[in-house]
Amino acid sequence: MDDWRESQEILVMDGRIKVPYTWSAGEVGTSYLEALRDEKRFLGTRCPNCDIVYHVPRMHCPDCFTECERYVELAGQGELVTWTVARRHYPPLSPLGGRFGYGVIKLDGADTGFLHLLAEFEEGELVTGGRVEAVFADEREGSMLDVKYFRPVKGVE
Ligand SMILES: [Zn+2]
Repeated sequence: MDDWRESQEILVMDGRIKVPYTWSAGEVGTSYLEALRDEKRFLGTRCPNCDIVYHVPRMHCPDCFTECERYVELAGQGELVTWTVARRHYPPLSPLGGRFGYGVIKLDGADTGFLHLLAEFEEGELVTGGRVEAVFADEREGSMLDVKYFRPVKGVE
């Protein structure tokens, strides 16, 4: 008699699973989101061992696992480290409508960058190393989208 484990072909079913979940922002994340929502301020944390300022803030340094110092006040503008322009309008991925892109932004005072939306720019206006500033949403609720997007700082070379 054949061993069923060797003779059986395992069938595969395609499907889609929707998994609603609740995710805790934690102590550092909550302070960060509250500062964005209530005061339009960006906070970072500093690793006292590596002297790296993290934005978004981390409770522990991912390099050396030392608990980070809280909090470092960061500017609402910084350097565009890298970016792309979305060439195709696809509503679920373009909540702003119109011309938009994605960029990694290193805020002034931070050593690390983070990904966010870019808008209010003309063709050719985005440059690597260029200056961008945050535009906050009028209604803020404690999420990364309390910053609607970043735009180029006008009049800065
Ligand atoms: Zn460290």
